[in-house]
Amino acid sequence: MVQSIQLSNNAKIAVIGAGAAGLIAAKNLRDSGLFQVEVFEEMDTVGGTWVYQEEIASSYYFQSSMYRDLRTNLPKEIMGFLDFPFDDSFGVSSFPSHQVVLSYLMSFCKTFQLFELIRFHCVVKKISRFDYFGCHKWDLVLYDLRTQQLEQRRYDAVVICNGHYTKSFIPQIPGSDLFLRPIIHSHFYKSPEPFYKLRIAVLGAGNSGIDISYELKRVASKVSLCHKKCEMRRMLEDNLEECPTIESLDTDGKIHLADKSTLQVDLLILCTGYEYDFPFLDSSCEVFVQDRVVLPIYRHLIHAKYPTMSFVGLPLRILPFPLFDYQTRYLASIYSGKCTLPSCERMLAEQQQDLFYLDSKGSRKYYHLLAEKQWEYCRELADLADGPNLSVAVQRVYEDVSQFRKREPEKYRRRKYIIFGKGPDDWRVFEGELDVTL
Ligand SMILES: Cc1cc2nc3c(=O)[nH]c(=O)nc-3n(C[C@H](O)[C@H](O)[C@H](O)COP(=O)(O)OP(=O)(O)OC[C@H]3O[C@@H](n4cnc5c(N)ncnc54)[C@H](O)[C@@H]3O)c2cc1C
Repeated sequence: MVQSIQLSNNAKIAVIGAGAAGLIAAKNLRDSGLFQVEVFEEMDTVGGTWVYQEEIASSYYFQSSMYRDLRTNLPKEIMGFLDFPFDDSFGVSSFPSHQVVLSYLMSFCKTFQLFELIRFHCVVKKISRFDYFGCHKWDLVLYDLRTQQLEQRRYDAVVICNGHYTKSFIPQIPGSDLFLRPIIHSHFYKSPEPFYKLRIAVLGAGNSGIDISYELKRVASKVSLCHKKCEMRRMLEDNLEECPTIESLDTDGKIHLADKSTLQVDLLILCTGYEYDFPFLDSSCEVFVQDRVVLPIYRHLIHAKYPTMSFVGLPLRILPFPLFDYQTRYLASIYSGKCTLPSCERMLAEQQQDLFYLDSKGSRKYYHLLAEKQWEYCRELADLADGPNLSVAVQRVYEDVSQFRKREPEKYRRRKYIIFGKGPDDWRVFEGELDVTL
């Protein structure tokens, strides 16, 4: 059994958020020529994560996790949207600063006339379902930060692009109450200078954990990067060591590690990731977040019970902008009736089946983590939407940089990537003048 979710001509679609996901959603849905698309953004600019906020306390609810000296961890040559290459007109470095990524997104909006679709300073406070002769509509309560007025509007579909790097995941570590030293989450980290001459433990060795540790070692007296994959302590540099994960905290800055050794620190920085959060969805939306899984969701994108609600950008460990592009081209195909969906029962059953399998391995929390599965995911969406496919060259560059980043976390950004075709060998990587492609 399949179902068509074709929306009527001129259907009204609300997009929540004008970060990278919201922008490409707006473009792809608007380009179908069938819908009225409106984007709601609480800040006064586009870009979301890529808007660096110097001050931690701001007048916005949204707080970017960007830090001052961040440069991308993926080469810009593969980061861009499908129809808008992130090329050397944005600078030659393959790993540009956050300012350059923001200017890329601005330029994308200007080129495709997206600004006119966006209502800035507008917070989506609440979304609730309204049942209307057997179909569902969505009521949005909007709050204008400038006029301080509330307003209610009804939409045929809502595309949720509110990002998932704002609600910090704080692990429960035994002894936190005894520790008596500051514990901060990487979300609030801005620059290394305030940590001059301190002894710091960093928990978590994802991209941010590693990046922040290398930034801190320039000023700190010692940085101990603690993570699960490390079995024994070893020095990486003069004042940077890798340690087993933290087992418990103790009095006055003492930390017990998994190998039974201890650390004495002045501060603990948690680089432990983020949680999905949709504070504006009321219970009628029937969306739940459990153990880092959003339910009920089909293909990490569509509400399995109410398919006119969708969530762009949930997958983790991916190539974000292209994946958002594939997701929203697919959404445009569904809402324009070019592509069907399985029955709601089937969609619900698919997610349950996947979760059942992950539960048997105790790894439910990795449900949205696609990693190497992202290529098949994007190609499947591209086929369904009858759109351009992801090139193998892009995949190879992503794999190359991921491996090299692990080996050389400090040096990988010195490399320059060049892509000249779509095939598996149509790319090169240089260190200075030297071609170091394997
Ligand atoms: C530190 C860090 C480094 C990263 N480095 C890279 C990298 O090198 N390369 C890469 O490709 N990706 C990187 N990423 C991933 C990055 O988050 C994605 O590339 C992408 O920018 C996410 O876009 P988004 O639109 O999903 O979310 P966001 O950028 O978070 O945008 C969400 C938007 O929604 C708005 N919003 C939220 N709630 C509401 C509401 N209720 N009402 C109105 N507006 C609302 C917010 O104001 C915001 O503008 C990094 C992420 C982080 C945190």
